[in-house]
Amino acid sequence: MTLENPITYIKGVSVQRATLLYTELGIKTCNDLLNFFPFRYIDKTQFYTIKELQPISAEVQVVGKITQIKSVAQKRGSRLVATFQDATGTMELVWFKGQKWIKDALKVNQPYVVYGKLNHYNGSFSIPHPEIELVSEYKKKLHSTMQPVYPSTEKLTNSGISNKLMRTYIQNLLQQFFETIKESLSQEIIDDFKLMPKRDALLNVHFPKDQERLAKAQNRLKFEELFFIQMQLVRKKLINKTKIKGFVFEKVGAVFNEFYAEKLPFSLTNAQKRVLKEVRKDVASGAHMNRLLQGDVGSGKTIVALLSMLLAIDNGFQATIMAPTEILANQHFTAVSELLTGMNINVDILTGSVRAKKRREIHANLEDGSLHILVGTHALLEDKVKFNNLGIAIIDEQHRFGVKQRAKLWAKNKISPLSLPKGKETVLENKIKTDKEKYHSDKSHAIEDVGGDLPPHILVMTATPIPRTLAMSVYGDLDISVIDELPPGRKEVKTVHRFDSNRLSVFKFMKDEIAKGRQVYIVYPLIEESEAMDYKDLMDGYESVSREFPSPKYQISIVHGKMKPADKDHEMQRFIKGETQIMVATTVIEVGVNVPNASVMIIESAERFGLSQLHQLRGRVGRGADQSYCILLSSYKLSAESKTRLKTMVETTDGFKIAEVDLKLRGPGNIMGTQQSGVLNLKIADVVKDSKILVAARNSAIALLQEDPNLEKEENLPIRTTFAKLTKTSKIWSNIS
Ligand code: ADP
Ligand code: MG
Repeated sequence: MTLENPITYIKGVSVQRATLLYTELGIKTCNDLLNFFPFRYIDKTQFYTIKELQPISAEVQVVGKITQIKSVAQKRGSRLVATFQDATGTMELVWFKGQKWIKDALKVNQPYVVYGKLNHYNGSFSIPHPEIELVSEYKKKLHSTMQPVYPSTEKLTNSGISNKLMRTYIQNLLQQFFETIKESLSQEIIDDFKLMPKRDALLNVHFPKDQERLAKAQNRLKFEELFFIQMQLVRKKLINKTKIKGFVFEKVGAVFNEFYAEKLPFSLTNAQKRVLKEVRKDVASGAHMNRLLQGDVGSGKTIVALLSMLLAIDNGFQATIMAPTEILANQHFTAVSELLTGMNINVDILTGSVRAKKRREIHANLEDGSLHILVGTHALLEDKVKFNNLGIAIIDEQHRFGVKQRAKLWAKNKISPLSLPKGKETVLENKIKTDKEKYHSDKSHAIEDVGGDLPPHILVMTATPIPRTLAMSVYGDLDISVIDELPPGRKEVKTVHRFDSNRLSVFKFMKDEIAKGRQVYIVYPLIEESEAMDYKDLMDGYESVSREFPSPKYQISIVHGKMKPADKDHEMQRFIKGETQIMVATTVIEVGVNVPNASVMIIESAERFGLSQLHQLRGRVGRGADQSYCILLSSYKLSAESKTRLKTMVETTDGFKIAEVDLKLRGPGNIMGTQQSGVLNLKIADVVKDSKILVAARNSAIALLQEDPNLEKEENLPIRTTFAKLTKTSKIWSNIS
């Protein structure tokens, strides 16, 4: 008997039901079922007083008396409401069905035990359809311990696989297989962290004797889950360093130095310098760089990207930077071209709207190596786009790109410079050739096969600050750089929240700012499900702004997703050049756009935006030397969550703080970019709530791998066995972040 047996080995599980459990929940083996954890517990071991109740939805058990029963009319029919009291407070019990029967059965002023799911509304608590029993009856019965409740599906319930049946299956499973459950951690780790042994933990997570033992069981299983993820990430990092080789950018050359000395329009912040050093160290190391650059909006990531690309060029390589939108790609192209004026470096741009003829020209220049820097959108991921010798690929605002798209960048160097036609080889190309020959002939490099040629160095840049704990579990295999300092002279954006009814004073404020020569953004939400309606809101808004700000005194740009790229770009350019003072737009401007003269950001229906989006939008202003403002407009009707979001925005401009709040509000699964990671598909741990366990698990994984990299020591055998099983089935081992 092993836990790898199919669940039909468990007493009572028929083939039919096993099939159903597999198709509905993916449970195949006994081990799968054993690791299928309850998502909550019915805890009738504990009693609450009414004063102790908290506005979180949970099952509670309360003792008290009914003081009053009444029928309350509502839209359809009526509901039965009983006022329920204990020594500490009052709450309500509510019935919508079977009212007559219940009303007759209930006894006023007699002690009852009630149990049920708690509702919280307008400061008071209620339990709809509670289980209710006179204390005198309750005392006569035998009361069991906590009961597990398992996740289920409609189909399972309809097919008779009830929660009760699941409990029976797992009970039988534990009885039959208990002895075969093996410890998966070393005794040292168990002792160090005072963990519950594996068997006890599994027993107690399914059938806890009490809250305390449940907590210990959960703690142990969470630790284990996070520990093995960290083992994979940390090990992968070690492998990356030693095995996946990268191009060597040996020197800081003429191009970089000339630019740095003569073209750089400002001096770098210390944070920018530090990050640049980190990049420089990576690309000179001989290993492949896989680095995440985090920096709040406006922190100056672009210049770091450009300088990194110049390093590549100095060493005979090409470079590319990929942006998520056409507007942003255009802006990068303009910025990079301007900065590099007079430097004899060829820069071009490739987006979806580049015509076939121009496209062919770009392809040719890429392949013969004469094009040094290519800026583009995802259009540059197309198979036709091949580089001669791409040394570094930079991905801006990486959360907009999926893992698959990033992976494509790895195989962009299909034409080996070794096979270049004779006569085309310039001095530079010869140098690469020697580099590569040297590289390939050096057998001391144990290269992992990543397909094709060597991959370019990768630098992904994001303005969505990922909280440390999350970064650790999602990007634990990437190196992380942080620009934690804004360029000097920036003033904090003043942020206020106003209700729609104050719009007139907002218009007045806009006029004053425009009179000072400033420019203003007005942003409308555009969320796909309600697109038609949002589009109408945008157009209505545009009209009312046009009435308030008539031409020719005022000029207004409008940009939205339904426009052709060329029109969008035209409107955008008018605003960038200062020909228009107001930009009415949807969130297409969210990412990256840089107009330093714009100093007012007005966000319509701000309650409908997520926190990170609000933060991104606000980041469009405050880029120049002038005081900037962000005005969040909303209706009066606000959910508790929207209130928190708006309040957070008013209180802080710190992207990391905002990200932490966002994470708490939405949970990690919804943070942009992490959905595809797959890493967060956790069974029991929660990277936010369990961040302490995560840190402990990570540290012990690092310590373990430093001490025993191949897990050869006798005492680490349990870890090795578990780890080997895991890595066979896990997908975390992809080459890409
Ligand atoms: P982001 O990190 O959001 O991409 P950008 O790279 O667009 O930020 O930079 C924002 C603005 O700050 C740009 O106008 C850029 O020229 C300017 N900037 C960047 N670094 C510095 C610096 N060290 N000193 C002054 N201005 C800077
Ligand atoms: Mg940017």
